[in-house]
Amino acid sequence: MTVQDLTYNEFGASLMREGGGSRLPLSGSFELTFKCNLRCVHCYIPDFSGRNELSTGEIKRILSEAADEGCVWMLLTGGEILCRGDFPEIYLHAKRQGFLLTLFSNGTLLDERIADLLAEYPPFGIEFTLYGLSDETYLKTTGFPGRFTRVRRAIDLMLERRLPLSLKAVAMEPLAGEIDRMSAFCESLGIRFRYDAIVHGRLDGSLKPTDVRSTPERVVEYDATDPERFNEWLKFYRRFVKPTRPTTYLMSCGAGVNSFHVTPQGTLLSCEALPLNGYDLRAGGFREGWYGIVGEIRSRPAAEFNVCAPCELKALCDRCPATALLETGSPDGWIPYYCEITHRRAALLEEEIGHQETADRYRAHAEKVKSGWTPRGAILPRAVRLDVPAPVCGAGGGCAASGCGKAVSPAARPTKLIQIEHPPAVAGGTGR
Ligand code: SF4
Ligand code: SF4
Repeated sequence: MTVQDLTYNEFGASLMREGGGSRLPLSGSFELTFKCNLRCVHCYIPDFSGRNELSTGEIKRILSEAADEGCVWMLLTGGEILCRGDFPEIYLHAKRQGFLLTLFSNGTLLDERIADLLAEYPPFGIEFTLYGLSDETYLKTTGFPGRFTRVRRAIDLMLERRLPLSLKAVAMEPLAGEIDRMSAFCESLGIRFRYDAIVHGRLDGSLKPTDVRSTPERVVEYDATDPERFNEWLKFYRRFVKPTRPTTYLMSCGAGVNSFHVTPQGTLLSCEALPLNGYDLRAGGFREGWYGIVGEIRSRPAAEFNVCAPCELKALCDRCPATALLETGSPDGWIPYYCEITHRRAALLEEEIGHQETADRYRAHAEKVKSGWTPRGAILPRAVRLDVPAPVCGAGGGCAASGCGKAVSPAARPTKLIQIEHPPAVAGGTGR
């Protein structure tokens, strides 16, 4: 099997297995910019202005340093990577470092010039996120007309050049009727398609994006009615979820072990959504940050009120220190939405395995969470919502890179990103 035959997840997993014995920064994601030409209803970016972002030279220097430390796999993402006019220069520099490169894009700015560049120097993978299958749906989900037409053209540019394109979607409520159709559309073109239902809180603490989440019942219905998806979950559940290893540490994923993230402002983190133990790469080198403060997150203990650390289903759950911090203000917080989904999903899987009693227990727990129960002492999603509206571009589309000169007014900019933990909003629950 060649690397081109591997799926994104298989490739990531094999990298982690090989590097598991040593703490090497094998896999990185680099958010080149927060600028974007769309304004999606679920987006977690609070400030699209691009202020204080890394220069071309700074990005190239960080890429070189990461390569020197052993990084072999690099994801270039945003925002929208093609909102940077210097994208071709950054991309070619990254290629020269020998990375296996994956690109995430919304596809709407991809033209023949970029397609030809990618054809000449192919990446390992390219993923476009689809926000519908028509210009009408795109208007609802991204705020701009005519965007599906642009994506459709970009898909053709990729297919004509036989580039390794795959498509993905967020199974949020505004797309409830379109996920099946998207899947059929991709199948008709011979393109791999995947979707998930994860919608985070915004980086400035606003919970506004969570308004468009699908209900837990609908999320699990996707699992139940899609045989391929169901089998993937079952495989994962058998392999990674049972038996669970309870931990006294905050982190139970691989962030900061063999993977890292760099923000548009040059902060080195263990994970893109966890702004703790960050290191300023403008002030020092990659090596110093990786082997210094960034790694220390791994030895941070879970707080006494962290009800998720001993949970037997935590490997199945999308609640993690990062999503908890975004939604509750603390990396030790508890998120009822994910708790309900996880217990409903586990019930479905246990039923398939033939453990009806366990399935009933999990389903009863999901119902309890749905009815408003909260674990004693848990930190809950914010009672007070920080719903600062995301800045909307009055020009009707286009960022600086696509020719739009209208900057968002400073007064409309939201507050700074979360960098502190908020005091617990303790639940008066009845115990777990
Ligand atoms: S494409 Fe949508 S979700 Fe992605 S960065 Fe732009 S606005 Fe956010
Ligand atoms: S949110 Fe619920 S299911 Fe998820 S890890 Fe915490 S206790 Fe477990």
